[in-house]
Amino acid sequence: MADDAAPRGSGRAVEPSTPEAVAHGIDPVSLASDTRQRALWAKIIWARYAAIALVGLGAVLAQEGGRRSLVALGLLLVGLPYNGVYDYLLRRTGVLYPTLAYSDQVLPVAFVAVAPDLLAPALLFMLAITANTAVAFGRRIAAQSTIVGFLGVSMVAIIRSSPDALAELVTFAVLAGFTTITVGAMAEVERELRGRYTELMGGIDAIVWEQQSQHPSTLYVNEEATNLLGYSVEAWSRPGQWSRVVYPDDRIEVRRQYRDAIARGRSLVLEYRMISATGDVVWVQDHMRVETDDSGRATKVRGVMLDVTATKVAQAKANQFIDLVDGIKTALYVFALDDLADDDSLRLTAINPEGAAVGDLDPDEAIGAAFGDVLTVDAEGDLIAHLADVVRHGQGFTIDDFRPTARSRGERIYSAYAFPLPGQAVGLSLTDITDRTMAADVLRRQALHDGLTGLPNRAQLNERIRAAVRASTDTAEPVALLVMDLDHFKDVNDALGHDQGDRLLIEMSRRLQRVLRDADTIARLGGDEFAVLLTRDGDGDGAHEYAGRIRDTLEQPFTVGGISIETSASIGIAVYPDDAAGAESLAQRAEIAMYAAKRSGSGVSRYSADADQSSVRRLALLGELRNAIHDGDLVLHFQPSLSLATGQVESCEALVRWQHPEHGLMPPGDFIELAEISGLIHPLTRWIIDQALAQIRAWLDDGIEMIVGVNLSVRNLYDRELVPWLTDRLLERGVDAHHLKLEVTESELMDDPLLALEVLGKLKALGTPTSIDDFGTGYSSLAYLKHLPIDELKIDKSFVGNMVNDASDLTIVRSTIDLSHNLGLSVVAEGVEDADTMRHLAALGCDRAQGYHVSRPVPAAELCTWLRDSDDLAQLRATLQLPKPDLR
Ligand code: C2E
Ligand code: CA
Ligand code: CA
Repeated sequence: MADDAAPRGSGRAVEPSTPEAVAHGIDPVSLASDTRQRALWAKIIWARYAAIALVGLGAVLAQEGGRRSLVALGLLLVGLPYNGVYDYLLRRTGVLYPTLAYSDQVLPVAFVAVAPDLLAPALLFMLAITANTAVAFGRRIAAQSTIVGFLGVSMVAIIRSSPDALAELVTFAVLAGFTTITVGAMAEVERELRGRYTELMGGIDAIVWEQQSQHPSTLYVNEEATNLLGYSVEAWSRPGQWSRVVYPDDRIEVRRQYRDAIARGRSLVLEYRMISATGDVVWVQDHMRVETDDSGRATKVRGVMLDVTATKVAQAKANQFIDLVDGIKTALYVFALDDLADDDSLRLTAINPEGAAVGDLDPDEAIGAAFGDVLTVDAEGDLIAHLADVVRHGQGFTIDDFRPTARSRGERIYSAYAFPLPGQAVGLSLTDITDRTMAADVLRRQALHDGLTGLPNRAQLNERIRAAVRASTDTAEPVALLVMDLDHFKDVNDALGHDQGDRLLIEMSRRLQRVLRDADTIARLGGDEFAVLLTRDGDGDGAHEYAGRIRDTLEQPFTVGGISIETSASIGIAVYPDDAAGAESLAQRAEIAMYAAKRSGSGVSRYSADADQSSVRRLALLGELRNAIHDGDLVLHFQPSLSLATGQVESCEALVRWQHPEHGLMPPGDFIELAEISGLIHPLTRWIIDQALAQIRAWLDDGIEMIVGVNLSVRNLYDRELVPWLTDRLLERGVDAHHLKLEVTESELMDDPLLALEVLGKLKALGTPTSIDDFGTGYSSLAYLKHLPIDELKIDKSFVGNMVNDASDLTIVRSTIDLSHNLGLSVVAEGVEDADTMRHLAALGCDRAQGYHVSRPVPAAELCTWLRDSDDLAQLRATLQLPKPDLR
């Protein structure tokens, strides 16, 4: 038998015999595919056994003669094994060999040869064989084999010369011919029918099968079983084959269902998996019908199995999508509008799990619910009307910020999209964008808030000022804006580092928020500038009260990084509509007022139109100053000081001027303070020092040795980078440190004596001499000065200018000179405007004189000329030669 897995057509034995094949007599007839045929042939073979045995036994028992008994015995001994061979072949291979047709005919011939008198029964035998052959192998083989048998018998008759045999032979020939034709034709018709049936079955894309109801062997199965599952048609005839190829997981259930269907005599459609010969899983849909006999007992089961693998795979895929729809984090709803004219007929027809979750619904119960029972939203009526319009007009819509009141989820934000669906329906999808929105909020927040303190920033403040001003035009309530700037915050920042500075600002913003809880807005404008917007109590008095509160809170020192820091703030106030006509000018004017407060040291200042002129100018200047540093609009003038002992000029002071395109040459008094307030003092000082160093270098190259003094602002002392920077610059400019002198005013030194001590110490270590400027104005004691690493003291011009006429000034100048010398400091008198003063100073032992009498501050080139060529210096020296005034 062919191999189980033999694919279709690979072996001839598997091929069911076709009428053509039989007609050509080439092929053995395979009965394997047709279990009924096979069963029939099994019966025929058995009948042949019986026939041989009966005839043989009958002949033996007849005992008509020893010879016949012998023949009969021979028949048994030869006939039974002969039949056995075909029996065996048929059982083993399912094939009926056409040789049977010939050998069958040969057998009676031999019979007749042995016992010629048994011609008649032999011919009857042969006739039966002819009929049989015609059925089994077709007319041609039947005719051929019959002719073989006929010729054989005829030859025996001729040899035996028994002429009476002729009539019997002719009768046989006629009957055999008739039998061959009629039986053959009938068999042909039957075979043709069967062939057509087989062809038909083979052409169906379904397995057609038939089984006996009581035991599980297949009676019939069409070729498709081979096509589809790869098992040969023969394999199906094995008992239990079907059960074996059912997918193991499905086997028990399928069997149970089948037994149940058979027991009840019911039809059944089952879907289950089978395993093909190649191991693939094949889904089949098995339509089974139970045939019953008259008593209702199941006899056969017939079925048609369809390959539904593709459908199943598609279904599985679809199920994946269903999973997706079920698992998607987008809420989906389908509403149908039953009555196109009635918005209230909108009913839920489908919902996904997320949709149910959003609405807190049981998805099964929710179907059929009205919109309001699915989602709770504000302006529900409008939304329903919109949705109904989607159905009516087929035009979808989106809502970016959809906020249904979720019963369990808290406030969530959705992006909603409504879209038309067939069947008078509208789909609604909700995508949760809360997090995204939050992120956007954060971004928006970042754009409108100060990152450090979390307070609104300038942009947001401006927006709120505009809103407040707009509202105020309706309510006639004044709006006040307070702008505050910490005094000396930059110094804290510079001294303690930015981290601590930041902490101070954060701490401060917290305090402000606590104290000004009822203020509309507290904003940080940048740096140490804050603003407070008031729409209630927004008049001048209210604003002043708030300003007072701010200053009170700041009186409590801040502890930052373990250090207690005292701060104060200058606060500017502007009120709309009294001080400003709009939001923008309100902001500007509050700032102007703040600068005024800072300058005057008054702490709080309300905007005043009078002060404004200069203030506006100053603000404008501030912007210009920034550029001036870069654009080189600043110039240094140098004012020499004359050594009263030698008449030599060995040092000068660098004094900055601003060559302003509109205002002309501006004195430092017009912009140094601005630079200090704004922090521009740092780049400004560096620029000046660098220019001074360049000039020292140039003079040195010219053979002029000059010590140049540069003024430092106290803010420069907080600049930790200044000394390292200076070290680098000195090196780069190729200037020895002792050529540069740095001046710090006395009053500024007293602002922070410890810091001054530290910085001056560093400068000393660097080799740069230092001098105390404007001495006498800062209430320092000489005892204190003793501890400072300074080299020089400059007596303020307010004492010098009048010393000749004012006894007390003279006393101050004299004692200052004496004490300085005691401390090892050299003394410079500033503001020396006349020869008399100069001579007095010389008499007092003052080391140097600086002032208009010696020289005005002049550009470097002019100073050179003055030093070399002018008569002025000679005259000054001449003055010094005169007898000194008696000062006692
Ligand atoms: P200061 O350091 O006391 O500079 C001396 C000021 O007195 C200069 O004014 C100078 O022109 C003026 N002066 C000189 N001789 C006489 C005189 O005989 N009579 C009178 N009445 N005044 C005289 P200037 O150049 O306007 O400087 C003013 C102040 O500006 C300076 O005072 C100094 O504190 C500051 N300053 C000047 N340049 C700079 C600078 O580069 N950096 C810093 N931080 N401050 C500077
Ligand atoms: Ca000075
Ligand atoms: Ca001075």
